[in-house]
Amino acid sequence: MKYECPHCKEKTITLKQKAFAGSLTSRGAECEKCKRRCVNGKDSIIVRLVTSLAALLFITYMIFFTEIDMGFCIGVSILALVVSKVLQIIFDAFFAKLIPSQWID
Ligand SMILES: [Zn+2]
Repeated sequence: MKYECPHCKEKTITLKQKAFAGSLTSRGAECEKCKRRCVNGKDSIIVRLVTSLAALLFITYMIFFTEIDMGFCIGVSILALVVSKVLQIIFDAFFAKLIPSQWID
């Protein structure tokens, strides 16, 4: 399964490339045909923002507003951050739209 390159419109970007292409500020994935780069568009930024914020709010709530043991809190916090990162990668891989990279080599 491959995705369309936003430059040459050929299906050259693999799922794995897309998953790790990052968004606007990243270098992005290189198209094997036209050698130009693409990244995930603004949907990806929104998902990053929302999932990171959700993880942060969850962690803040747990540490300051519950009586849960601190060691356990730290463990769950790390887990929450990992989960939000995984969600971002899954979203980038399957749902985000590819756009040309702004990166200048
Ligand atoms: Zn291309």
